[in-house]
Amino acid sequence: MSAPMPLRLVIVGCSLAGLRAAQAARREGFEGSVVLVGREEHLPYDRPPLSKGFLVDDHAEATFFVGADDLAALDVDVRLGVSATGLDAAAKSVITGQKRTGYDKLIIATGGDARLLAPGQLWTSGSGDDRPLVEVLRTLDDARSLRDRVRPSARIVVVGAGFIGSEIASSARSLSASVVLVEAANVPLVRALGPVVGDAVSRLHERFGTELLAGVQVEGIAAVGDERRVTLSSGQVLDADVVVAGIGAVPATGWIGSALDLHPLMAVCSATSTCAPRIRTCMPAAMWSIGPTSSSAKRCASRTARRQRVWCPRALRTSEIHTRAYGGTGSP
Ligand SMILES: Cc1cc2nc3c(=O)[nH]c(=O)nc-3n(C[C@H](O)[C@H](O)[C@H](O)COP(=O)(O)OP(=O)(O)OC[C@H]3O[C@@H](n4cnc5c(N)ncnc54)[C@H](O)[C@@H]3O)c2cc1C
Repeated sequence: MSAPMPLRLVIVGCSLAGLRAAQAARREGFEGSVVLVGREEHLPYDRPPLSKGFLVDDHAEATFFVGADDLAALDVDVRLGVSATGLDAAAKSVITGQKRTGYDKLIIATGGDARLLAPGQLWTSGSGDDRPLVEVLRTLDDARSLRDRVRPSARIVVVGAGFIGSEIASSARSLSASVVLVEAANVPLVRALGPVVGDAVSRLHERFGTELLAGVQVEGIAAVGDERRVTLSSGQVLDADVVVAGIGAVPATGWIGSALDLHPLMAVCSATSTCAPRIRTCMPAAMWSIGPTSSSAKRCASRTARRQRVWCPRALRTSEIHTRAYGGTGSP
């Protein structure tokens, strides 16, 4: 006899992986209710253009993967602008502020948040403006706000010459903004792509007029009037209109607290990404089949950090694998 169909699937994270999980659940025949909870006010949209064409074209619109009608047709209860703030695995409920939403099955698809500079690097603001000292680029709202400031005459300091930092620098340069790219490693992208490609990227930045300062760290950033002043470990001081940090992403799992035993870097619990009975993650790193404390975990964590550059297909594939497991039999 087959197991009974679960009644309610809750998916936390309403972006690519969360959306695909919901779609796959329906495609695979899941007939219970599907609740999709997302912190942002937007339906799922494509993030990669945000650091590229979107940033330099005031008329560019976000590319949404679906409309509200599509999700209504799938009978998915979409709750936008709602943050999961906690998980009660024993009571099988997701906490969103004062509310609780019970689940029979839970998929965690909260992806990543931008890694922030350490508080010690953010020196006291002496300015009257209420802008953040340092911007990040992770969401559509971040991109809209940054786009307003990426102007031909702007002086922009980008901290971190990884993929997103390099893309922001190149996009800003294409508008003739003055761009300084600060990178802690001696060669940009060296951990992800190796020294040969990293050197080639350095030369490209140079050729297109981005000033690359490699092998230096940010000591501190302060506001001076409307400007930002960046002090580097080399002693150099850079004045800028905008400072953007592109120093990586961290799993957005803070809301889970101690409810699950997640590896801090990898947001994964087991080979199958099954964290606890009835719970699965489809986080970018959840593809890696390792235990949370083994020494191989550390090696995999650093490999994963590199491979997160190709998150999209992985996030998508993982979410589909998981909902397939849920959809038919109801047992993870
Ligand atoms: C600027 C930019 C450029 C990129 N360029 C590329 C590229 O060129 N190629 C590539 O392969 N990949 C690229 N990526 C990465 C790609 O966008 C991600 O791999 C993909 O978005 C991962 O999808 P996801 O659904 O797993 O997670 P995410 O897109 O991170 O979505 C997670 C969602 O969960 C929500 N959430 C988080 N916490 C909570 C909570 N507590 N409660 C409710 N909701 C929550 C978030 O608001 C978010 O909407 C880029 C990313 C960015 C930001």
